[in-house]
This record gives sequence, structure tokens and C-alpha cells, in this order.
Amino acid sequence: MENCLFCKIIAGDIPSTKVYEDDKTYAFRDINPMAPVHVLVVPKTHVASLDAVDALSDELLAACLRTCRTVAHQEAIAESGFRVVSNCGCDACQSVQHLHFHVLGGKKMAESMA
Ligand code: 5GP
Ligand code: ZN
Repeated sequence: MENCLFCKIIAGDIPSTKVYEDDKTYAFRDINPMAPVHVLVVPKTHVASLDAVDALSDELLAACLRTCRTVAHQEAIAESGFRVVSNCGCDACQSVQHLHFHVLGGKKMAESMA
């Protein structure tokens, strides 16, 4: 989609540090990491958020979660544990309107989620 930051990253028009890619998903390092490992997983099809996934196939949505797991293994945080977060909408402080999953790990997380 035009004027979408993550669509531009997926297309390679804006540089990113790729961690993993397949035909359905793209994973890259967050520019402002909140943990030793902080990777963003996005579907290659544009949808704005989790609230818009009716426009996404179940296959593509599942692929995002599989990629989160793949990234956790690749980054060697699967065994110690990792957190997957998707901010949706204003109250959740979503700042980029292209569905994305934060994969966070490499340290003991705070128990509080909000
Ligand atoms: P949100 O706040 O929407 O849940 O997450 C958006 C994330 O995108 C933030 O963690 C932010 O640091 C990251 N981000 C914003 N712009 C860029 C960019 O140009 N490149 C990369 N790699 N990450 C970005
Ligand atoms: Zn997009």
C-alpha cells in the first residue's frame, strides 16, 4: 500500500535488517529495540492491524505466528522464553498502521503487560 512504512520496508524501498523472509511474511529488527532481541514480523499483504484481519486469509495470519516462532529459534531465545505482542489501535499505542508482531526476548521480561 502506498505511504505505508512497512510496505516500503517489505518492498526494499526503505532499508531494514532482515532476520527472516518467506513468501508470506517478512521479519526485521526494530529500529528502537526494547529488548536484546526485538524483531518485527509482518505479513507481506497490507492490513492495518489485528482488527482488520478479516481481510487476511487464515493461512497468512497463521504464517505470521509461525514466523514469530521461527525467529525465536533463529535468535536462540526459544528455550529461555520470548514474548509476542501486537499493538492494535490508539489505546495500545500502535504507531505503524500495518499489522505487525513484536518478538521480544533475551532478558527476563516484566510481569506487567500494561
Ligand atoms: P507499534 O508502536 O506500532 O506497535 O510498533 C511500531 C514499531 O516500529 C516500533 O517499535 C518502532 O520502533 C518500529 N519502527 C518505526 N519505524 C521503523 C523503521 O523505519 N524501521 C524499523 N526497523 N523499525 C521501525
Ligand atoms: Zn503496509
